[in-house]
Amino acid sequence: MLLSLLAALFPAAAAPISAQSLVETPDQPAPPAAFREAERADTRSPDGRPGAGYWQNRADYVIEATLDPVAGRVTGRETITYLNNAPDSLDRLVLHLDQNVFAPSARRNRRAPVTGGMDLGTVLLNGAEVEAHPVGRGYQEALTLLELLLPEPLEPGATASLELSWSFTVPPAPTFRTGNLDFDVFAVAQWYPRMAVYDDVYGWDETPYLGDGEFYLEYGDFDVALTLPSGWLVGATGVLQNESEVLGDAVLDGLARARSHAGETVQVVTPELQGPGAATRAPEGSPVTWRFTAENVRDFAFSTSANYLWDVRVSAAGVENYAFYRPQVAETWAEAARYVDVTIATLSEWILPYPWSRATTTEGPVGGMEYPMMVFISGGRSPRSLAGVTIHEMAHQWFPMIVGSMEAKHAFMDEGFVSYFDEEVAARLWGDEEPRWGENQGYLRVAGTEAEVPILRHTDLVSPYGARGLAAYTKPAVMLGALREVVGRDAFAAAFQDYASEWAFRHPQPWDFFRTVERHAGRDLDWFWGPAFASTATLDVGVLAVEHQGGSSVVVLERSGGLILPTPVRITRSDGSIEEHSVSADRWRAEGRRVRLIIAGRVEGVALDPDGRFPDVESSNDVWGSEVGGGPQGLQGPLHDADLHRPPASHRPAPTQPHKGPQALRMHPHTPSSTPAIPTSSLRLDRFDPV
Ligand SMILES: [Zn+2]
Repeated sequence: MLLSLLAALFPAAAAPISAQSLVETPDQPAPPAAFREAERADTRSPDGRPGAGYWQNRADYVIEATLDPVAGRVTGRETITYLNNAPDSLDRLVLHLDQNVFAPSARRNRRAPVTGGMDLGTVLLNGAEVEAHPVGRGYQEALTLLELLLPEPLEPGATASLELSWSFTVPPAPTFRTGNLDFDVFAVAQWYPRMAVYDDVYGWDETPYLGDGEFYLEYGDFDVALTLPSGWLVGATGVLQNESEVLGDAVLDGLARARSHAGETVQVVTPELQGPGAATRAPEGSPVTWRFTAENVRDFAFSTSANYLWDVRVSAAGVENYAFYRPQVAETWAEAARYVDVTIATLSEWILPYPWSRATTTEGPVGGMEYPMMVFISGGRSPRSLAGVTIHEMAHQWFPMIVGSMEAKHAFMDEGFVSYFDEEVAARLWGDEEPRWGENQGYLRVAGTEAEVPILRHTDLVSPYGARGLAAYTKPAVMLGALREVVGRDAFAAAFQDYASEWAFRHPQPWDFFRTVERHAGRDLDWFWGPAFASTATLDVGVLAVEHQGGSSVVVLERSGGLILPTPVRITRSDGSIEEHSVSADRWRAEGRRVRLIIAGRVEGVALDPDGRFPDVESSNDVWGSEVGGGPQGLQGPLHDADLHRPPASHRPAPTQPHKGPQALRMHPHTPSSTPAIPTSSLRLDRFDPV
């Protein structure tokens, strides 16, 4: 991409590109025409930063809603203040009515209970009622979208005020991303009419909600009043504004205690304090209105139950970490607030400081799902499973809650980035030695088969579902781990930090990320992005031959896959000495399919990538001659002892389980001639369905 510009920016560091490497690189991920147009308009830039002319629209919400937990129904009204920062006059507005994915005739790519969808009441534009109309004026509903035709254009810099009222039945669990669990816990999301994004690249995003693909939303401030019967506790996006009106005295005392004891988990609603007149101040039968505000968020969700306990743990940085869960899962969930705390603190250090003052996890019907400042997680889990899902969902606070990418179109920019980080946070929490063996294994099982699709594909266009999991989660994490070895760990970490800070509360595209990494690497990386992100090319390097010539040996390596990555080579000589070599990606690109290594002395054994740092799909040709070290007893490569993101080994507790060496990565070698079914366990869909 724009090699000449990058070369101009980094004249000393730009790598030469051989004609051969360009020929063999499949599917260069050239930016689409819409992105190039945005570059010409100076809203995007060649170095990955937002362009000087970058703009973004904004939607602020004031919402009042009531949940009737007996009927399982939400009734609400809202005012949206929509600011047009675009240089364009808008002749229409587009909103999402995502509850309509549960309407009887909805188009879906997941099974779903039918609730009737969203019943829309009145719609007012700048105080004047707008009516549904089949064509030409008013508003129309189609799939999960609402299009409102403006009687007069909304000019650049102008605001529109929309008032809407609506109601819907919370879908019964089990379903996806929301649900009513036996009228005991409600996880409420995609629940109010939300503005679609009008951006500088594509204009209106009119992607309907079909089930698989997630969301793309504007940032704004929320002021939300939720009314429930007394005794029901609410965990939500935002900061509770009326604690002293809502909560009982003992709960307020507990909150004060937690706030003066940072780093301690305090149970502010205990089993004894549940119910009306205790957890909540009002007597039984009285309605209680919980008022939350949130600044600069792209969505709002909440969970509620009359059976919740409430743990509070204030972090060293002052973030209040909350966990709401029912007594039957208390044994494992007593640690949930700490898992949130560790994740928020760790990723604040690694990526960007967490910008909000609350981080809430809520137990309920949804396996795992992220919303701004809060997550939904299901209850019956082992400690490791609960920690893993908590880390994954809380890592989503950075991608896509802070960095607001298009989730359905570019799922790797939230799920892939989070999958890259979550295993490393888990490794820090547990003191493990091998942070990402699971991702490697899952990818290698299906790499290069027809069950794989390129990462750069709209997630609603991916079928079967297992292919979506691989393209959105597993493969991007593996490729980012490999790329980190190519560009260097310092540069890679700095690139992620700059990408997150430069695109915080903004709408990046893949090319903004690619260019940010290239800026920090000081070189063009199209030769990597193309095979890794825009194709299903695989890495396969093998030992072709070893020849002994006088006092030296020639080791010939052959590369047959289309993906180019460095090749670590461990040589064992006849005198027992071991020597580590590495064939760089640049050398592969310059020399083509075969590389000859001249080694002094007589070589008796060759092992390629013995520490399993790169996702080579064919392990049978990776070893030649005598058995050489590898695995837990072998030499440890830089991945194990120089990981930028991890504290020195001396600061980590001892591993709690035997660490998994390269043998674990190679347990299921890829067999090109067979067509493996995708074992769902390899994609860990139990963790990721839906997230
Ligand atoms: Zn996720």
